[in-house]
Amino acid sequence: MISPANMHTSHCCVQHGCKYGDNNCPVTKLQAKQNHECSQCCRQKEQPEHVRVKNLQKLLKRAHKKANTLNRNAKPYYPTYH
Ligand SMILES: [Zn+2]
Ligand SMILES: [Zn+2]
Repeated sequence: MISPANMHTSHCCVQHGCKYGDNNCPVTKLQAKQNHECSQCCRQKEQPEHVRVKNLQKLLKRAHKKANTLNRNAKPYYPTYH
């Protein structure tokens, strides 16, 4: 059985508050330590949008460069029949 304290420690966050809106949340009251980062904490850890876009642009640029060199070196392909 999950005790209410466990319920809070596994879902609530010191920074983002009690998930259940409980004023007596042991986590926000610092009576218990949270077990996990809350979903909002996880989301904050993700890369911010502009970093993701920049990385994507970098990838695209690299792909373009690669495609260009490939095209330059590519020999016309004739299927051979033996
Ligand atoms: Zn709570
Ligand atoms: Zn959080």
